[in-house]
Amino acid sequence: MPNRHLLGAALGAIPLMVIALVAPARAPVASTPKEQLPASAGVTAEELRIHVEALGDAMMLGRDTPGPGGDLAARYVANAFAAAGLRPADEDGTVPEAYFQSFAVGELEVKNVVGVLWGDDPSAGAIVVGAHYDGVGSRHGSFMPAADDNASGTAMIIAAAAALARSAAVAGPLEHSLVFVAFGSEEDGLLGARHYCDHPLVPLSTTRAMVNLDTVGRPRTETLQIVGWSRYRELSSLLQRAAEAEGVNAVAGSRSLWRRSDQAVFADAGVPSVWLLGHLRDDIHSRDDTPDRLDYEWMVRVTQALTKSIHTGFRADGGQE
Ligand SMILES: [Zn+2]
Repeated sequence: MPNRHLLGAALGAIPLMVIALVAPARAPVASTPKEQLPASAGVTAEELRIHVEALGDAMMLGRDTPGPGGDLAARYVANAFAAAGLRPADEDGTVPEAYFQSFAVGELEVKNVVGVLWGDDPSAGAIVVGAHYDGVGSRHGSFMPAADDNASGTAMIIAAAAALARSAAVAGPLEHSLVFVAFGSEEDGLLGARHYCDHPLVPLSTTRAMVNLDTVGRPRTETLQIVGWSRYRELSSLLQRAAEAEGVNAVAGSRSLWRRSDQAVFADAGVPSVWLLGHLRDDIHSRDDTPDRLDYEWMVRVTQALTKSIHTGFRADGGQE
């Protein structure tokens, strides 16, 4: 167990650190066409690195859920969502609990973390952007940092949320709502995604798409894999074109991977869903999945491709309208 004094100090420090990272820059007054992301909505490698290093720290104990390290990670993500300007699921609650969507695993509680940028047209529905924050915890007395799987995706949805919130501060809200979900207990059988789909913040019937980010920090040959391409071609090709505009080569991921992450649960519930994947390496779920091995500049490009796609609501060719 971590030193109590250190843990308390870190818990106090996290919100300040997160606020400094993701607080919106003072926004210019001029309005911007909604199809264009304002320049202030850029994502940096430094913010991604800081989130991954925080989530991969020894204090997080490998982020097992249920467990104290997983709980600490959920608090970190909730504070980051709040600092980014996302609204909590529980508008009357206090941070961080207002962002939690809790469910039971055995006798213990696990948290999804849910934050929203509400659109201005309820009939336009929502897009869900998700990543699991949990890891596999500790084994034989040492913790697994779970940096690529999946502090990478968690950091990227925090950065995407902050960028899109800055955009909304400048140009006003989009028509559709954006729901950001950091899932718990993915490693136990996609349990957080199952709980969300049983208790969605926006009805799944009006959820137009779900994009899942999992293990997206260490690509092979700088290539992004889109798992689900053959099922959801329009959504996939929109994301591919956005990636290529950022200099990222995107290809169809292996169909055999489909059931191995959270998007499969949303697809089962009828929501067009894909998984953005770097490369599944042998060292995930080991002590060697460390923050220093991630390619943060590449992650910036993928995150920007994602935010630009989301910003236009996947309307580039009318495919998802
Ligand atoms: Zn994973």
